[in-house]
Amino acid sequence: MELHIGIDDFDSPRGMCTTYFGALIADYIKEKKDIVFLDYPYLIRLNPNIPFKTRGNGAVSLHLEIRDVYIDDFLDYLEQGVWEYADLKHGKSDPVILVSLGKRIDFFREIYRRALKELVPSRYVLRSIKRWSNIKIIYPKTGRGIVGAVAAIGAYKLKDFTYELLFYRDVHEKKKSRAVDQKILLEIDKKYRPLIFANFDYEKKRMLALSHGPDPVILGIRSLDPYILLDIFYFLAQKIKFEKAMIYKSNQGTNSHLSDVKMIKDIRPYDSVVIKGVIFEEPTIIRGGHVIFIIKDETGRITCSVYKQTGRLNRFAKMLMKGDYIEVGGGIIPSVLHGMTLNVEYIRLIQAAPLEIIQNPLCPICGSRMESLGRNKGFRCSKCGYRSQKIKKIRKIVLRYVEPGLYIQSPIAYRHLTKPLETLGMCGKEYNNVIISPLT
Ligand SMILES: [Zn+2]
Repeated sequence: MELHIGIDDFDSPRGMCTTYFGALIADYIKEKKDIVFLDYPYLIRLNPNIPFKTRGNGAVSLHLEIRDVYIDDFLDYLEQGVWEYADLKHGKSDPVILVSLGKRIDFFREIYRRALKELVPSRYVLRSIKRWSNIKIIYPKTGRGIVGAVAAIGAYKLKDFTYELLFYRDVHEKKKSRAVDQKILLEIDKKYRPLIFANFDYEKKRMLALSHGPDPVILGIRSLDPYILLDIFYFLAQKIKFEKAMIYKSNQGTNSHLSDVKMIKDIRPYDSVVIKGVIFEEPTIIRGGHVIFIIKDETGRITCSVYKQTGRLNRFAKMLMKGDYIEVGGGIIPSVLHGMTLNVEYIRLIQAAPLEIIQNPLCPICGSRMESLGRNKGFRCSKCGYRSQKIKKIRKIVLRYVEPGLYIQSPIAYRHLTKPLETLGMCGKEYNNVIISPLT
């Protein structure tokens, strides 16, 4: 029988992490002959703009084939796991394990689709899901993680995906620093890029693959091919100290949260959206170096904000002009100052407005630039003294130093879901077998 497990909200600022719990379960399953993986364990990222997410807003799901007689034992194991590993005393952690027996229902798919782009109320999902049979929900607290748990199951089977190899240290180790040599990561990056991506920001010289909190994740390497990650696993296993490792299939790096074009009038707070429109007001640079501009479509106007931290996207936004036709993707954040504001993650310049400049005419006698004698009073040449009332100002279209195309953040500002430039047009490789066992 098919069995799908969705897990969310195990993350706690004191260390526990949803993906670590997923790896624990995967470890347990790989020993059992009665349970088979239908696909890699999933690490699913949801709408990055919702306000009360835990660290990365990532949920986990496992997709299994299980012999009926083994189901009860397995459910007992999961229940014990929550009590043993979840940080139930911490207010930010509100874990949920959802077990769905049999083929999934469309409801799961629908919640995944919405949770990528919208704010989905957990109470609505919990109420709906309780009506289904063949469902077991384990939630020791309020069940806020139910949206992620349902969505992570609903992501199956992912069509556009990448992989991430995660290394974990002992869950009781809380130090912030990770003893990983930058040289090793650079060596890997040079060998495998672009089939691995978003590991290093060469401009800021920062290791993006490295984790920095009290959680058990040491580092994560993202790739389009799990066999490359297996190679990297064997290489790194000799160089770093770790307790566990796991390859997740993921919607990371696919931009799947930015796939709906919305009209401005239909936008709601915390949506992840794409808008097409014309720049209505010249971009301005505000304190802190952030760029603000207003875009309009047939239904309304909205303020867009491009943070300084987005690096090359921020620098590009400064070159935009009134009248430019663009597509922007990002998250809607309610702002006291600007009302609803689109926090920009990418800009596609579709058509640059022509730049017209108006100059005083050149003197027909000596060729110098003439000076104006005032409105409708004509021009005078300061060099040879020639005057004329008939001569007119010159209108000229000049070249803009922007090129139509896609502009995204510097790697340091990537969201988990951001599709990096180096993988544009590429997607993850599908294999029939799942690599779990050599890793732990
Ligand atoms: Zn002259």
